[in-house]
Amino acid sequence: MTGLYIHIPFCARKCPYCDFYSLPYSKKLCEDYVSALVRNIRHFAPQGISIDSIYFGGGTPSLLYSSQVKAILDAVGDSFDVHDPEITLEANPCTADLRKLSEYREAGVNRLSLGVQSANDTELEKLGRLHDFKRAEKAVHDAVKAGFENISCDIMLGTAQQTLISLENSIDALINLPLQHISAYMLKIEKGTPYDCDEVRSAAADDDLMSEMYLKTVQKLADAGFEQYEISNFAKPGFESRHNLKYWTGESYIGIGASAHSFFGGKRYFCPKDVGSFVSGELQAEVTEDENPDLTEEYVMFGLRLAKGIRLDKLGENAEMIAQKAKLYEKYGLCRLTEDTLSLTPKGFLVSNSLIAEFVQCL
Ligand code: SF4
Repeated sequence: MTGLYIHIPFCARKCPYCDFYSLPYSKKLCEDYVSALVRNIRHFAPQGISIDSIYFGGGTPSLLYSSQVKAILDAVGDSFDVHDPEITLEANPCTADLRKLSEYREAGVNRLSLGVQSANDTELEKLGRLHDFKRAEKAVHDAVKAGFENISCDIMLGTAQQTLISLENSIDALINLPLQHISAYMLKIEKGTPYDCDEVRSAAADDDLMSEMYLKTVQKLADAGFEQYEISNFAKPGFESRHNLKYWTGESYIGIGASAHSFFGGKRYFCPKDVGSFVSGELQAEVTEDENPDLTEEYVMFGLRLAKGIRLDKLGENAEMIAQKAKLYEKYGLCRLTEDTLSLTPKGFLVSNSLIAEFVQCL
């Protein structure tokens, strides 16, 4: 079934490490943007597309009023064939109070993804975040009071001056919260962001420390019952993100909003990073990324991000060559090869880009 992604490109303040497309929040622009979202959503009505996940990503979707979230979800309900959906909303702890969260829940949102990043206030300050950890803890408890039974938090690894011990403390603090899902991302210094400077580079984790941090994170989360199902994602059984899994399993998704990507009708396309033209246009512009993606190549590229890996019988005549290559890497503990499947180990995930490129070469 298809997933629906809705991009909200506004933030209260730009974080210095972030290169996602987002603009400073403006009430008027956000209102116009929501109207444009609704217009675009309603355009799909004649197609009767079946969906089972809706994802509000950003930016900071929790800057939306609950009435705006409701208007968007009403339009989705009128325009798509919606089946028992997972409805996720990404929230910033600073913009998520009990009242707003209760209203989101009433509007139908049933999964909350909170950008916590760290339980250490000095690290949060260095990340340019507006919240401290107390505020993040309160947001989680408020979400539970509001009726959320599926809550995820993000944590960041390798940030400026983070140590293995402070990371372990952050993980312990998250484990003690009533969460069902944790996403752990390794800091990547993106070109052109304020973080792209020598001062931050020298304070951030080097490759060795990052590896240690990642492997420690995988082990601590596993011990606490959060099973790794993707390079950066960990869940209690049954709480894997239905929406995000679509990206890695080749299912279709429709993205609406400036900078949103889609994989639908067999092609990949995106809407340009331009809120102005999105708001003023009757319908969002679509730029084709790939008219005819190589589905076997994508199966290997995305499937190897998953802990369960890929099935060899889906690789046709290439299976044997991939298996031969995998045997070499298996000796170094980077992957696991069974009669039917190939998957990367946590150690392999650390070098997944290179490993996946090696396997793709065999196709
Ligand atoms: S709140 Fe999120 S999307 Fe916005 S700037 Fe910070 S990291 Fe980027």
